Amino acid sequence: MAHIEQTQWGCNRCGKPTLHSRKVEPLNHVLHLLLTIFCCGWWLPIWILLILVHNPRRDPWRCSVCGQQAGVLTPEQQRSLVIQKAQERAVKAEQRQATKEVRSQQRRELFAAMASQARSAFQQIKRVPGQIDVGLRLMAGEGNTILYRFLEVAAAAVILGLTAGAIYLAALVIQRCW
Ligand SMILES: [Zn+2]
Repeated sequence: MAHIEQTQWGCNRCGKPTLHSRKVEPLNHVLHLLLTIFCCGWWLPIWILLILVHNPRRDPWRCSVCGQQAGVLTPEQQRSLVIQKAQERAVKAEQRQATKEVRSQQRRELFAAMASQARSAFQQIKRVPGQIDVGLRLMAGEGNTILYRFLEVAAAAVILGLTAGAIYLAALVIQRCW
């Protein structure tokens, strides 16, 4: 016969512990006893088997005050939970965006610093040709135009090589930082 179990549970709707109850439907032993008597004991093994495997059907616990199922959120609570999760997601997205902006700001500052370094280096380099020219004329000796031209070409090749190397290094650094 079905019977009612009762216990104290915290109710989500009432917001306090209330009396909860549930219906439990156990094995109908009276029926099985009658069957056993009716079959002269032949029903007994089936009855024992049923006792071993039977899982009484139990309804969920419900608040006896408001009828709210135990362990289940009320629709209002579910809605506010959804809103809360959405807000948390929005905050996280904002934080990610802020981090991204800080990083891109740092990158911009790094490039500005590199550009200013490059400018000052270029200012230095611009002064070099005159000095090289003076050096080449001294090396070639007074009036030796052919040797002077040859040295000029060699110096230009060296400068071009150094410039290409510097550009290559700068490209590597930029690639690393980007
Ligand atoms: Zn309740």
